[in-house]
Amino acid sequence: MKPRVLILYTGGTIGMEPSDRGYVPLRGFGRLLKEHLQARATHQLPDYELVELETLIDSANLTPSDWCRIGGEVIEQWDAYDGFVILHGTDTMAYTASALSFMLRGIDKPVILTGSQIPLTELRNDALDNLVTALMLAGDNRISEVCIFFDGRLLRGNRSTKLKSAGLDAFDSPNFPWLGQVGIHIDLQNNLLRPPGERDFRLPAYDPQAVTMVQIYPGISAQMIDSLLQPARVHGLILQTYGVGNPPNHNRELLRVLERAVERGKIIVNITQCIQGRIDQGAYATGSSLNSIGIIPGSDLTLEAAFTKLHTLLGTE
Ligand code: ASP
Repeated sequence: MKPRVLILYTGGTIGMEPSDRGYVPLRGFGRLLKEHLQARATHQLPDYELVELETLIDSANLTPSDWCRIGGEVIEQWDAYDGFVILHGTDTMAYTASALSFMLRGIDKPVILTGSQIPLTELRNDALDNLVTALMLAGDNRISEVCIFFDGRLLRGNRSTKLKSAGLDAFDSPNFPWLGQVGIHIDLQNNLLRPPGERDFRLPAYDPQAVTMVQIYPGISAQMIDSLLQPARVHGLILQTYGVGNPPNHNRELLRVLERAVERGKIIVNITQCIQGRIDQGAYATGSSLNSIGIIPGSDLTLEAAFTKLHTLLGTE
């Protein structure tokens, strides 16, 4: 029997059309896809159904409640399908992939996010190839996790990040090897794929104001960080420091602001501004100043994974 896959269309370039204001999401993506697949050998594809979310968005408009909209739909349909494809805008796809991985814990089916840099409505596009391969991957029972598939790369969802604004190879996972590579063949790294787990779903009650982030820059003031940490609804801060986790420790007031926030119960996670690498909070005196004031070293988390993980923990009882 052929696997059954649910395609969830949330918006994004893949399904957009030009307007006088630039690209906007288009309704009726299912019909358009059918037209494009007509000329192809679709017997190789899993059986699929396509559901359009009620509100289609440019993913720049995404908020944490959209993670629940998407995750909720997947959870509701979980038993009826063997795999899921989520069509999503590229701008915040890595946030959604990370959030979904923390919501859909211990899964035993593929959940593959994809999109494109050029809409399917354009003559030259990356939409059809990304979508067709994502569909095949969503029907592959060796995959039991949330992934991004884009331009021939199968990436762990919560390790992915968008690195290119215009290149078709827009995504990478700089701190983790690709889970698969698609050229003439679909080659999966079986040794890296997560084994099927015990299903443990959660739909957190996200407060969009709960987590904030700041990138340290030369000359940043303590007041700047203090103002981010003052609102009562802000419970967490992702602090992006230099290199292996170094803040400007000559700025004593800045360290005091962080320390006072931790004392008030705020959770502060330190991650690196570098594209690749991890935090080593004791390597330099600058970084070790954070150890004594309760800042959590965020290892090699991407910004997207750190942000959504903290959100998920704060939104979960
Ligand atoms: N702005 C678009 C979006 O994120 C970009 C894309 O899909 O590539 O929805």
